[in-house]
Amino acid sequence: MNITTPFDDFGSLVFDEKLMEERLPNPVYKTWKQTVAKEGTLDRPTADAIAHAMKRWALEKGATHFTHWFQPMTGSTAEKHDSFIEPGADGQPLTRFSGKSLIKGEPDASSFPSGGLRATFEARGYTYWDCTSPAFIKDGILCIPTVFVSYNGESLDKKAPLLKSMEAISKAATRVVNIFGDKEVKTCVPVVGLEQEYFLVDKKLYEKRLDLKLTGRTLFGASAPKGQELDDHYFGSIPQRVSAFMKEVNHELWKLGIYAKAEHNEVAPAQFELAPIYSNTNIAVDQNQLTMDILKKVANKHGLACLLHEKPFAGINGSGKHNNYSIVTDNGQNLYSPGDKPAENIRFLVFICAFIKAVDTYPELLRMSSSGAGNDHRLGANEAPPAIISIYLGSYIEDILFSIYKEKEITSTKIDNSFNPVSGLSYIPHDNTDRNRTSPVAFTGNKFEFRMLGSSLSAAIANIVLNTINAEVLNEIADELEGIKYIQDIREKALAICKDIIKNHKRIIFSGDGYSSQWVEEAAKRGLPNIKSFIESVSSLTDEKAIKLFTSLNIYSEKELYARTEILSEQYIKTIEIETKTLTKMAKNEILPAMTKELKFYGETACSLKDVKIDYVNKMIDEISTIITSTNDTLEELKTTIESLDSIGDTHEKGVKYYYEVCPLMLKVREQIDKYEKIASKEIYTLPTYTDLLYSLD
Ligand code: ADP
Ligand code: MG
Repeated sequence: MNITTPFDDFGSLVFDEKLMEERLPNPVYKTWKQTVAKEGTLDRPTADAIAHAMKRWALEKGATHFTHWFQPMTGSTAEKHDSFIEPGADGQPLTRFSGKSLIKGEPDASSFPSGGLRATFEARGYTYWDCTSPAFIKDGILCIPTVFVSYNGESLDKKAPLLKSMEAISKAATRVVNIFGDKEVKTCVPVVGLEQEYFLVDKKLYEKRLDLKLTGRTLFGASAPKGQELDDHYFGSIPQRVSAFMKEVNHELWKLGIYAKAEHNEVAPAQFELAPIYSNTNIAVDQNQLTMDILKKVANKHGLACLLHEKPFAGINGSGKHNNYSIVTDNGQNLYSPGDKPAENIRFLVFICAFIKAVDTYPELLRMSSSGAGNDHRLGANEAPPAIISIYLGSYIEDILFSIYKEKEITSTKIDNSFNPVSGLSYIPHDNTDRNRTSPVAFTGNKFEFRMLGSSLSAAIANIVLNTINAEVLNEIADELEGIKYIQDIREKALAICKDIIKNHKRIIFSGDGYSSQWVEEAAKRGLPNIKSFIESVSSLTDEKAIKLFTSLNIYSEKELYARTEILSEQYIKTIEIETKTLTKMAKNEILPAMTKELKFYGETACSLKDVKIDYVNKMIDEISTIITSTNDTLEELKTTIESLDSIGDTHEKGVKYYYEVCPLMLKVREQIDKYEKIASKEIYTLPTYTDLLYSLD
């Protein structure tokens, strides 16, 4: 009997390792494997053979075009399609896909931001195949994951530095692992699982809100009478419409070989989460980009709009992208896994301490890497990690570290497995970490969960930073340990290093309530940076410490770092400009006319009532006319403020001014509109409200 399951076509749209083994001549497959393991290089005949097999497979799957799929510094992905078909010598059409086309592309992509790395007269940029990330078919196009670099070899994308940082962490971690005796380990790989949060709203309502369409968030809107106070949405039953949508999303992801695993309602109404199983960082980042793409496309098919913005609605939770991070050796050991007796597992303690030192040395970079204009509304908004970086270890690991530091007896060296809440179960898996949702970085059993990352962002930069800062510290540790002859001496020295790290970096460890105002004060006392805005954190990329870090590990050149600062600042300004223009347009074309109509209604009512004086009517006239004046005045102020900033030449400085001078004015306009919305009559004010938008899915 032929039983079909929803998983039968898992990976059917990916040219993965298994397919390569099946379809490639064995020597070709072996050369590819060696290239991936960095033990060899790909020659022309091998590339031709892989390209040929890839083309055959893609054509069988109905693909007509191929593209070099890359991740420019816009934060999204880019593709330019070329068809497989071309005229043959005899004039008959034939399909062709050469090794050269597989390996190298020259997209005419001169409009992507380069931060000055490409002068307009030298607009050439090249894409090169990332042979460690599998090719896949999307919308009938064979997509080849590639890096994007300039003619001079400077990286113009997010993948090239990510791959370099993976190499750096692999080398550094392997050094440490080898020192502790595991000599057969040759490489390590950082693995990542990205939990993606998002909102869904009815497409018809979405269409009526220009702000949602153009900026991804509501620029105004009074709170719905019911928010998330009852916590009744969280983990609740999934509405049928959403369930059909999720089913299709999962199926699309599975076909692409993405292990979509968990799905549930999130805290806010209309908010959901999707978590895949972790994979090598570059693949996880690629797959997350695909996931965001699929979420949007499938939503559209179901009459829904998927909002990936960090804060689509004020007053309720925003969305993040939790970045679960660990490092795994080539023989499958997770270096953050504490084992049964973590207190005696010195290698584990070294990796944990290295992480602590790395984060405490470069908190500004982590803050920067996880943010954008959108995340400014989320971080520190009392439902998301604050903008202050701290690490939550859980009391168990924390106790062990502090006992090393204070040279105290460690009270419990073994994980307690005696708790059994249900009789009859002989095996209960246990976690050695409790949870603290308020912490931006938390150790969760055998991985670090970085929760600051914004939902709409590419996870590349955050992981470039995590890899690089950890590589630096692990290299320092390896420098100190290499050359010590006896394992006992290595262990003792390593323990002393851990002790030192805890002494010097314990300020970053915090297990209390990260949402509280006391923590803000306490963090200031500890000297932890609290960078208010994303734009201010951008300059951390080019401070002396960061330049030294990135250039010494060969991740970014100084020029590339300056280019990135420029691009991020420029993008920030553009985002705010789009928001101000959208807000102004909506205010002038839709809201002020509604307010005026409303005023006219009450004015005419007052007139028609003549001698009958009704306080309510007069009060409404006063209130609405005050709101109209204030809205209009603030819009004028917004316009003149933006004009006054126009002459600032330094992009970053201009961005900071936008944050401190333009953003507050947008909020002021919003306040007026929200005030009006609360008293507006339904007949006159027709834009979808928060109640409409958040409760439209059932
Ligand atoms: P929780 O957030 O409750 O710990 P999960 O166990 O579901 O939830 O993990 C969340 C994400 O972390 C998933 O994407 C999962 O694949 C990923 N993950 C689990 N273990 C690791 C690990 N060792 N390294 C990196 N990511 C991991
Ligand atoms: Mg989680």
